[in-house]
Amino acid sequence: MREGSLEAPTRHPIDWKSEQYWDRADLEQELERVYDICHGCRRCVSLCDAFPTLFDLVDESDTLEVDGIAKADYIKVVDQCYLCDLCYMTKCPYVPPHEWNVISLT
Ligand code: SF4
Ligand code: SF4
Repeated sequence: MREGSLEAPTRHPIDWKSEQYWDRADLEQELERVYDICHGCRRCVSLCDAFPTLFDLVDESDTLEVDGIAKADYIKVVDQCYLCDLCYMTKCPYVPPHEWNVISLT
């Protein structure tokens, strides 16, 4: 398994014309997957408000895990991201080519 962020960053195009992109259930599934990776890592906590928002939601949930967050609250994390790309470009070892394929928190 290769770590990400070892080479010049590549911005992967978003497939926004596909049906899958507009599928809310698919989006929630992907957010849950990425939120769970970020919760286990927490390296980006100081970068922006998206990460503390996510970690507070986890820490205040009944299960203390991402499965304890209401799906309706996922947007609270998304709303804090202003797409600066700092997490992707400078911090995350789990972006491609790493198999966890963390493209973006949001
Ligand atoms: S891209 Fe979004 S989540 Fe990542 S550091 Fe920037 S604002 Fe935060
Ligand atoms: S974006 Fe990557 S480095 Fe940042 S908290 Fe999530 S998994 Fe960790």
